[in-house]
Amino acid sequence: MNKVVVVGSLHYDIVVESSHRPVKGETVLGKKWFAKFGGKGGNQAVGCAKADCDVFMVSCVGKDNFAPFLLEHLKQHQINTDFVQQTDKFGSGMSVAIMDSEGDYGAVVVSGANLAIESAVLEQDSLWQDTKMLILQNEVSDEINLNAAQQANQRHIPVCINAAPAKKLSPELIKLIDILIVNAVEAEAMCGIAVTDLTSALKAAQRLQQDFPQVVVTAGGDGVAFANQQEQGVMPAIKVKLISTLGAGDCFVGHLCASLINGETLKSAVGYANQKAAEHVSMLAR
Ligand code: ADP
Repeated sequence: MNKVVVVGSLHYDIVVESSHRPVKGETVLGKKWFAKFGGKGGNQAVGCAKADCDVFMVSCVGKDNFAPFLLEHLKQHQINTDFVQQTDKFGSGMSVAIMDSEGDYGAVVVSGANLAIESAVLEQDSLWQDTKMLILQNEVSDEINLNAAQQANQRHIPVCINAAPAKKLSPELIKLIDILIVNAVEAEAMCGIAVTDLTSALKAAQRLQQDFPQVVVTAGGDGVAFANQQEQGVMPAIKVKLISTLGAGDCFVGHLCASLINGETLKSAVGYANQKAAEHVSMLAR
């Protein structure tokens, strides 16, 4: 099995279903709630594990009631948790989302312990031994992302970043990235091109490819654009009955990376991830 290291966030997500989202001072009686495993890092780790990678997670949780749930979920997917730290200084990362009857939602995320990952954990050789790819997102500190990318780079391990949520990446980090994956909002934030369809998604991918060797721009229900030196193109989304797009991007990232590690071309890896993400949006992600 191909080994992947994911450095990123773990969140305990609480989703509340309500007729509408409360306005200032209002208390709304909700319909129901459920808790789910989340965090872009954790979700992408699970995506890689589902695509048959041997996944090592680097993260940090609190010493609270959420931590066992997060660790157990990783273990259920055979993800190695030896490099998930635990701190008593902060609570585990969490979010509360309020979903209204239209399916629109607003959320608050508290990063908590995810911002307390210590650099020392990245310096252990055993973490990197036989690793085929490092995957990063923007939900841990810039320092940890840079450190992880440097450690991988020294060992000639390719680095993929899903630059989400949108944030300006430092020039130092950009130099170390082999694959950039962004959605429409993040693509616009990074290159100024509004992504409204596959034509503009391809333009954004081509623009971003001036700074990153390989770029994938996901455009939700429209599909995906991709660009590297050999291949540039678009792929429409696969038509499915939509249930929920929650976590679609994370599922896409996990499967794309797994496929690239297997030696597939960018186009072929995008095709595989597009298929798996379509399956994901047609199921209720819990
Ligand atoms: P994010 O969740 O990061 O915002 P996107 O919304 O761009 O990411 O979705 C990621 C990928 O999930 C898309 O490129 C596509 O492959 C798949 N996807 C998203 N929405 C749909 C949909 N309505 N139908 C089919 N596939 C979808």
